[in-house]
Amino acid sequence: MSKNLADILVGVPFLDELPESAKRSHNIISNSSIPIQNIEEIAIYIWNQMNKVNMVSIFTGFYCNNGFETDGPLGALILAEFFIKAQIPVQICCEKKLLEIMRSIASELSLSELISFTPFKNIKNTKNSMLFTIERPGENRIGICHTMDGHKISHSILPVESEIQKNPPNAWIAIGDGGNELGTGYYRKIIEEVIPYGKKCNCGCEGGIAAYKEADRCILSTTSNFGAISLSLQLAIQKKIKWNVPADKVTQIIRILNKHGIKDGVNGEEGTVDGISIELRKKMYDLLKLLF
Ligand SMILES: [Zn+2]
Repeated sequence: MSKNLADILVGVPFLDELPESAKRSHNIISNSSIPIQNIEEIAIYIWNQMNKVNMVSIFTGFYCNNGFETDGPLGALILAEFFIKAQIPVQICCEKKLLEIMRSIASELSLSELISFTPFKNIKNTKNSMLFTIERPGENRIGICHTMDGHKISHSILPVESEIQKNPPNAWIAIGDGGNELGTGYYRKIIEEVIPYGKKCNCGCEGGIAAYKEADRCILSTTSNFGAISLSLQLAIQKKIKWNVPADKVTQIIRILNKHGIKDGVNGEEGTVDGISIELRKKMYDLLKLLF
């Protein structure tokens, strides 16, 4: 992977400005002794697998102390819009309340009407689709999902993991930022070592927050939104699809998420994602734009 992209994904050019919560992917990647999963190879893998599936299924939605958070839904909507542009059918699935909000945002922004917002009960099986989990809570080794501050998630969580186990998808790509997200188990050992509560959580389960299951490919980034958007840009380049994601569009979607009560998962504020200021976010997306 180009050194620049690998660094930008985990926030290397901005380490002095990033809040601690957004440095977790960098802490994991820079301490990892296993090979870093490479976004260029992941994009090649996705295109190679795509002719074996009927559609793309995107699961997102992380319930934190302040309700559902802005990290995840934004990346899911943009990745979905990209696949529609690439003429691949897409369904987005998450908990009912968030699903309705995302549906209404898509209509407010005139995103493609071809994006399907599918309730979990209508997901037939994930076998014939390519699965993307973007900032979904992941069970630890004993089946408990945690917030980044080490607490058990109290909100009910759709049984996505048992569905994946019953009907393993043809290909599964996970995107996360801190190691408690579904599918990031590839980095589990190092997450247990370097991420707060990775090995020992606050909830008494003794399992730590590190997610257990391993997706076929895993992207860690400063925020999952940033990882998902970077992936869409890389996919576009490889297929020569005209595609860009202006920073203003990102800001607009976050504003509408806020209006619907979806807030920053770290500080509960509006405008930001995972505590990253609007100004810094703009710099990050501007730098990304230079690469693609
Ligand atoms: Zn626990």
